[in-house]
Amino acid sequence: AKKQGKNRFFWFESSMESELRFRNEMIQGLRRGIEKGEFVPFYEQQIDLETGKLVGFEMLARWNSPDFGIVGPDIFIPIAEEMGLIGDLSEQLIVQAFTDAKSWAPELTLSVNISPVQMRDPWFSQKLLKLLIEHNFPPHRLEIEITESCLHENIGMVRTMIASLQNQGVHVSLDDFGTGYASLSQLSSLPFDRLKIDRSFVKELSGSNSGAKIVQAMVSMSDGLHMPVTAEGIEDEKILEALKTLGKMKGQGYHYGLPENGEAVRKRLAESGQL
Ligand code: C2E
Ligand code: CA
Ligand code: CA
Ligand code: CA
Repeated sequence: AKKQGKNRFFWFESSMESELRFRNEMIQGLRRGIEKGEFVPFYEQQIDLETGKLVGFEMLARWNSPDFGIVGPDIFIPIAEEMGLIGDLSEQLIVQAFTDAKSWAPELTLSVNISPVQMRDPWFSQKLLKLLIEHNFPPHRLEIEITESCLHENIGMVRTMIASLQNQGVHVSLDDFGTGYASLSQLSSLPFDRLKIDRSFVKELSGSNSGAKIVQAMVSMSDGLHMPVTAEGIEDEKILEALKTLGKMKGQGYHYGLPENGEAVRKRLAESGQL
């Protein structure tokens, strides 16, 4: 029994070691990847559900790592935030996305996710303005998505940030609406241009009735706040039809295809005459 315990101890230690080693490799790789420009924007279509027309794209970050393969943002964004690298990483992606989006039809919008860490940077909106000007990108085509978890922080600072972004002509959306327990008074005191209903709620529309009631309540709350809605995570026709009965809105999800790189998007737009 003693021997077994000892072995178990060693096994535990070495798995912890390998986890640490993996983390360190990740951190080193991330730094190198930023220097080498290994981060690429992918794009997910956003559709006007009423007309079925493409209205824009959400940029989703991917890491094309020589060591790890294609890595998703849920893995590297938290590490980049911790390491203080998120600002540089985000800037790199935004610049690529501006370049891509400038070749699209001018009515197509570009949505970009911004980390709560970036929202704490008092210079964020200045930095963004500089990028908009340098790359000659029309601010009104840009939508910044901030997550509901930002609202746990200094709400005055968030309000100032939203105002200065909107003063530049940039739109600001509340992402992952419903997951962060924002209070109603917080929501009504922040002038978001749009609410994005998280896919954890939307996916319930493929099942029972109670799921539909929650999404319905979220939509009528948005109506009351005079904020338009985007539903994320539309995976099938059933969800799409259920959403359409709830009102006018935009939507996105795998029903319309998986996120694609810039080249694939350009091909798609060339075929539909939206380039
Ligand atoms: P999000 O903003 O909620 O983005 C939607 C995520 O759900 C994306 O995952 C997308 O691929 C996935 N998704 C979209 N439609 C469907 C669907 O129909 N079904 C299912 N099952 N999933 C769907 P992804 O690309 O892995 O992104 C995860 C999160 O990473 C995003 O969540 C966003 O919060 C964050 N993120 C992505 N890019 C960036 C970035 O450049 N900067 C920052 N700070 N965060 C980013
Ligand atoms: Ca988002
Ligand atoms: Ca999210
Ligand atoms: Ca979400």
